[in-house]
Amino acid sequence: MMQVAIDGPASAGKSTVAKQVAQKLGFVYIDTGAMYRTCTLIAQLNGIDFSDEERLLQKIRQSKIVFRTQDGEQKVYLDGTDVTAAIRTPKITDNVSQVSALAKIRYQMVKQQRDMAGEMNVIMDGRDIGTTVLPHAEVKIFLVASVKSRAKRRLLDYAQKGIKQNLTQIEQDLELRDFKDSHREVSPLKKADDAIEIDTTNMTIEQVVATILDKIEKKSKKLI
Ligand code: C5P
Repeated sequence: MMQVAIDGPASAGKSTVAKQVAQKLGFVYIDTGAMYRTCTLIAQLNGIDFSDEERLLQKIRQSKIVFRTQDGEQKVYLDGTDVTAAIRTPKITDNVSQVSALAKIRYQMVKQQRDMAGEMNVIMDGRDIGTTVLPHAEVKIFLVASVKSRAKRRLLDYAQKGIKQNLTQIEQDLELRDFKDSHREVSPLKKADDAIEIDTTNMTIEQVVATILDKIEKKSKKLI
């Protein structure tokens, strides 16, 4: 059994590479950011204030968040409804850091994430995977990239979804979200001491995937 943790700031390419590595190795991919995004959607759908932790926690506990792979794509379902696109809108992205800073909600999510990882080969991406969720992960990667290149990727991402945004605004939003995620009290975004840092600014997706596959292979040879 092997656990791979991928952490890093917003839009550093974590989910893209994690999905490809998972596919190549037959590992299960778990996108923890999608879980905090769904919690934010639950607050919005139910008119719950982001600071009302107790009410939000109660609603989250009553809700069912499920990941399903359909036609090679990972979909997120909230109480049976496909919310994959709904959790990626700027309205969610701009508010998710407020929700993910709530200690009780994190506690609940981390518990679910550890349960999901179970006794399988997993690759999990997020902000606190190597430090908190899977501290014993065999391979820990910390992906970074310049804010400019991350903003360009996000702009492209939005354009593909038909969402119009401007580059400067995206840059500012990314920096603000990273600041909030790195400065919150409970498990902030932080490189684990034993994580390998990869700067993806001047790398292609294929190169990043190959680098991670190589680290995993080397580690598994040592484990046998
Ligand atoms: O990875 P993604 O950009 O979808 O994550 C959305 C937000 O969820 C992050 O900005 C962060 O606030 C929160 N998050 C977190 N811990 C994780 C994964 C995501 O706090 N493990």
